[in-house]
Amino acid sequence: MFSCTVEKEISEVLSRCVEGKSISRTEAVLLLKSENTHSILQTAKSIRDRFKPGPITYSPKVFINLINLCRDTCSYCTYKKEPTDDSLSMMSPDQVLSIAQRGKMTRCTEALIVTGERPEARYLQAKEWLKSLGHSSIVDYIREVSEMVLHKTGLLPHTNAGCLTKKEMSLLKDTNVSLGLMLESSSERLLRKGMPHEMAPSKNPKLRTKTIQSAGELRIPMTTGLLVGIGETHEEMIDSLFVIKEIQSKFGHLQEVIMQNFSPKANTAMVEIDRPSHSYFIKCVAVARLVMNDMNIQIPPNLNPGCLGDFIDAGINDWGGISPVTIDYVNPEYSWPDVELVRSVTLQKAHGLRARLPIYPEFLDKSLGFIPEGLRSFVDPLIDDAGLVKEHDQN
Ligand code: SF4
Repeated sequence: MFSCTVEKEISEVLSRCVEGKSISRTEAVLLLKSENTHSILQTAKSIRDRFKPGPITYSPKVFINLINLCRDTCSYCTYKKEPTDDSLSMMSPDQVLSIAQRGKMTRCTEALIVTGERPEARYLQAKEWLKSLGHSSIVDYIREVSEMVLHKTGLLPHTNAGCLTKKEMSLLKDTNVSLGLMLESSSERLLRKGMPHEMAPSKNPKLRTKTIQSAGELRIPMTTGLLVGIGETHEEMIDSLFVIKEIQSKFGHLQEVIMQNFSPKANTAMVEIDRPSHSYFIKCVAVARLVMNDMNIQIPPNLNPGCLGDFIDAGINDWGGISPVTIDYVNPEYSWPDVELVRSVTLQKAHGLRARLPIYPEFLDKSLGFIPEGLRSFVDPLIDDAGLVKEHDQN
């Protein structure tokens, strides 16, 4: 049980949040460890209502599983395949186009292009596949398919291809309205022997923060976030939020913080590890809102079926990508919820639901320099005055 002194301290921290003041790392840890979840959620909700009073958003998307070979091995991942696996994906331009066209027909506006981490650095099959397509690196091929999807369907590419160099990201800037890289955790401890990132050098937080910062230097809107429940301590979870907050304060290019709950998967080293409890995860989400204040906070709805309304109460303002066409290849066991179900839950919590592009409205202002001139003609016809997808283009 918490002492009266601690309870008083928590109440003072929450009052300062309500006054619009920032909280410190120590205070955020105190909140996360507190049992006073109700007050934390209430405060997080009021902060969301102050900074993000508009509708809750989502991005109608297709998931283009370009290549699921990966040079790394994370202990919780089933996305990564081996060349002999039945579900190996190495997509040709025609296959990519076919999915994007289905997305167009179902009024999607985002083409999420996903690959494993530098597959050609580990697998000869990936190298030869790229060579047969006329490329020597996965980034060159992503650039080609991004351009094709953009020009032939009008869907806006958003690529998640792991850690990229500044030069590689600059090659994608003209065709991708935004890029994504989960920080997952700022804890280097998770790279140690027996920990989930032991065999995943790309999960070194130094490398990931460097990638995220490079995107900021290039003025590329970026999505990032945390994977909660992979062995990090409370303090490390909070540290990760503050790393993101610090990068944002320098560059202002982080368009959302995804709070993703770990989910154990069959045939992985972490199959026996429990997912974070609902009560803990929801508190993590609320504390993220209290630390980040005006940033967009998202949870993946497919990983939290049956309790979506709780996350609106915890301060989120976005549901992320939802696809009417493709599965979530990273979490294939969790199907996307029907958009009408999400709309109904969102309405029950007195919020509207609107589709957004893979670039958030606040990044669209020309003077901010986040959209290259060449992408304007693809973005502008899709949006209304609020920078959201025109109603008649929505699902
Ligand atoms: S989580 Fe990403 S980096 Fe880790 S093994 Fe899976 S695809 Fe590779």
